[in-house]
Amino acid sequence: MQAGPEDIALAVERLRDKRLVAFPTETVYGLGALALDTEAVSGVFRIKGRPSDNPLIVHVVDEAMARRVCAGWPAHAATLAADFWPGPLTLVVPKSADVPDVVTAGGPTVAVRSPRHPLTLALLESLGEPLVGPSANRSGGVSPTCAEHVRESFSEAEVFVLDGGPCVGGIESTVVDVSGGRARVLRPGLISAEQIAASIGESVESGERGGHEGPVRSPGQVGPHYAPRAPARLIEEAYLAGALAGLEPGTSAAVLTPRVDQVPAPHHAIAMPADGERYAARLYAALREADATRPAVVLIVKPWPAEPPTGVWAAIADRLRRATAPRDQ
Ligand code: AMP
Ligand code: MG
Repeated sequence: MQAGPEDIALAVERLRDKRLVAFPTETVYGLGALALDTEAVSGVFRIKGRPSDNPLIVHVVDEAMARRVCAGWPAHAATLAADFWPGPLTLVVPKSADVPDVVTAGGPTVAVRSPRHPLTLALLESLGEPLVGPSANRSGGVSPTCAEHVRESFSEAEVFVLDGGPCVGGIESTVVDVSGGRARVLRPGLISAEQIAASIGESVESGERGGHEGPVRSPGQVGPHYAPRAPARLIEEAYLAGALAGLEPGTSAAVLTPRVDQVPAPHHAIAMPADGERYAARLYAALREADATRPAVVLIVKPWPAEPPTGVWAAIADRLRRATAPRDQ
C-alpha cells in the first residue's frame, strides 16, 4: 500500500522525535533522520553499522534549503541544480557551521541533493528541514529498491517505512564534487559525466583525487559494497558455460543474464533487461533474488555493449565491480 498524507504526518512526528523514517526516492530507499541533529544522525550510523568515516548525503526539497547547509553555492552547483534537481545528482559543496561533523565525517564539505519522488518532497516540505538519507540497508549490502526490501533489514519499531512503490532509477545518485574549481565525479550514477559536462559547458574529471592531493574525498567508495551475501563474479558471456560446468557437483549458481536459455538446471537464471536504464532499475532486486536461491556463487554476465561503458552503463559497471570485489572473508 502506498503511503498517504496521514503517513507523511506520522513520519514528520517520528523524525522530530529523532527517530528514523525510510523514504522512497527515484534512486533507492533512503534512511532518513534530521540532518542537523547529531543524536538523530548517530542513530543512522548505529543501525546501519556504517563506518563513521563515510559521510552522508543531505536531502533537501530545493536549492533554497540546500543553501542553508552550505557555506557557499558555487556557480557549477547553481547550474547543475537548475538542470537536474529534483533528480539523481548529489553536489558536494563547502559546508555551513550548522551541519554536525557526524554528517560529513569531520570534513569541510557536505553532499546535498533533492530527490525526485512526490512523497519525499512532500515529507521534506512538511518537515521544513533537511534529512540525511543513506540507503536503507545494513552497510555493505544491497541497497533497497522497494519498501519490502527495507522491511527485510529493519523492524517496524526501528524504522517507519513510507511506501512509495518501487524506485524507478534503481541505483544510487551520481556524486559530483563542485567545491573546488573543476567538477569531479566521485561516484557514477544515473546522471552521466557526459550530461554534467554538457550542463556546465566544460569537461569533468572522474574518480578520487590522487594520493598526493589530499585525503580520499568519497570514502564510501572504498572496499566491497552493494554486494549480495553469496560471492559474486562478473563474467564474459563466452565463459559462462565453462564456469557453470566447473562448479562443484551438487552446487548451483544464480546467473544474471539477458539470455536465460543459456542457464541449464540446476542453476537459477535471473532475467536481466538489455536496456541500460531498465537494467539499473532491476539490478538490486535481481541480486536479492539471486541470494534467495542460496547459490554457491552469483555469476553476472557482463552487460554493457561496448568498452569502456558509457552513460548509465558506466554506473552499472561501477556497482557490478563493487558487488564482485574480493572480500576479506
Ligand atoms: P550512500 O551511502 O549511498 O548514501 O552514499 C553516499 C556517498 O556520498 C558515499 O559514497 C559518500 O562517501 C559520498 N559523500 C557523502 N558526503 C561526501 C562529501 N562531503 N564528500 C565526498 N563524498 C561524500
Ligand atoms: Mg548504501
